[in-house]
Amino acid sequence: MKEEAIKIKELSPQIRINNFDEVVLGYSEEEALLEAGRCLQCKNPTCISGCPVGIDIKKFIFQITKKDFKSAYFTIREKNNFPSICGRVCPAEYQCRKSCVLTKKGASFANANTINIHFLERFIGDWGLKNNLEIVQEKNEKLSKFKIAVVGSGPAGLCCAGELAKVGIKVVVFEGLHAYGGVLRYGIPAFRLPTDILDKEIEYLNKLNVSFIKNCLIGKTKSLDDLFSEGFAAVFLGLGAGTPSFLGIAGENLCNIYSANEFLTRINLMQAYKFPQFHTPINIGKNIIVIGGGNTAIDTARTAIRLQSINNFKPNVTVLYRRTELEMPARRLEIEHAKEEGVNFKFLVQPKEFIGDKDGFVKKIICLKCELGKPDYSGRRRPIKIEGSDFEIDCDLVIVAIGLTANQTLTSVTPALKTDKYKNIIIDPSTMETSIKNVFAGGDIVGGEGTVIEAMGMAKKAAKFILMKLLS
Ligand code: FAD
Ligand code: SF4
Repeated sequence: MKEEAIKIKELSPQIRINNFDEVVLGYSEEEALLEAGRCLQCKNPTCISGCPVGIDIKKFIFQITKKDFKSAYFTIREKNNFPSICGRVCPAEYQCRKSCVLTKKGASFANANTINIHFLERFIGDWGLKNNLEIVQEKNEKLSKFKIAVVGSGPAGLCCAGELAKVGIKVVVFEGLHAYGGVLRYGIPAFRLPTDILDKEIEYLNKLNVSFIKNCLIGKTKSLDDLFSEGFAAVFLGLGAGTPSFLGIAGENLCNIYSANEFLTRINLMQAYKFPQFHTPINIGKNIIVIGGGNTAIDTARTAIRLQSINNFKPNVTVLYRRTELEMPARRLEIEHAKEEGVNFKFLVQPKEFIGDKDGFVKKIICLKCELGKPDYSGRRRPIKIEGSDFEIDCDLVIVAIGLTANQTLTSVTPALKTDKYKNIIIDPSTMETSIKNVFAGGDIVGGEGTVIEAMGMAKKAAKFILMKLLS
């Protein structure tokens, strides 16, 4: 076996900070063959248990080594409707790659020699899109008379729609926004997930005759009862977690303090970086502070640094995190990319108060230093504020990226839909059915902030039980 993993090509930091082009360029055929050739084809392929949707990783990698890309594509698609998306955004280092036998044999992410399963998945997904592979719809006569409503077009909704449409069920997806994809469109920036890839993956659902209705907020435009009156036999809720959390400290209402959600939505969905060609404005600072340590914080910081293209100056972007780099939940690759692009990091720091100027614009953050205590429920060491360690950081734009909670438009007007203390929908975990009969749910609205593939895993499970119910 070749010891070292095949490196993926990337745009250089000097070029990429001036645009929103995709940073990671993907494997060529030759590189994919070399990387696939490193796989040991284990008798007991532990990698599969690390994939939330159980892709037969060993099989599709073997098919790559035989240059049978078509079979590899269908092997992946059996379990994962969106390989080109997952191959780009899955935190493989915590999932399939972590479970790969090579990790256990000592290949670490520091030398990154575990098989690059996600890059191979991306290679095959893109190959399938490029070659317009037809999706075989296996229509089931008994099922094709039903119609199902899917609420929300994030990965959970899209995945559930695909699973149901594959057997000939008529599926209608209702989306509150004016574009489809959920976080994949308004959250994850195009330099990580290009919009044309997302559009092509959604086109696959069009080929399966899934209908889409945008600007339709279930709970406002229509109620759940309306959907059942319109003849839908069941409803899947993939509402996501889009409500931003705030720090709850003094001065947080000052001007030029954004939630990451608003900042990213303005830029990604509303294309504010093309103002005035697009009408959405965005305030930009010279000294930008991003607060948080997850994917959202890193995406925000990397987006902010790219705004030099409309600024004509390079903003100084700093991420403040209350633990150390080791505890950051963001993907390692993204943290490395952020550093390469010039994002600064200040660890063990917690904001205490925002200070504004006479016009109400943020100018400073008073912060406290922190130290690490014992591990908390997440297994990460808890940050402890050091009283009296106050210091100031100058800033003219702050973006708070400390987490997201449940979208409540529907649950707040539907008391029969039971939620937990975080306002996530309660389901029966064996069927994904909610407290309302024939209403199922999955994704972040059930599990809280998670990952794309976890949302898809839940949606697949819900689709399976919807089908069982329809057939019973
Ligand atoms: P969402 O993607 O939130 O989609 C929910 C959809 O439902 C939205 O389009 C919303 O408008 C719609 N909706 C809500 N209520 C209604 C209603 N009442 N009527 C109609 N429509 C409604 N995960 C990864 O695996 N890798 C990453 O790299 C990664 N990066 C991320 C970066 C950012 C900035 C963020 C915010 C998250 C990231 N995640 C990442 C997490 C991942 O995107 C989510 O876990 C995933 O999108 C959840 O999917 P979902 O379908 O449950 O919800
Ligand atoms: Fe290949 Fe790793 Fe899976 Fe073994 S565990 S089959 S080496 S990807």
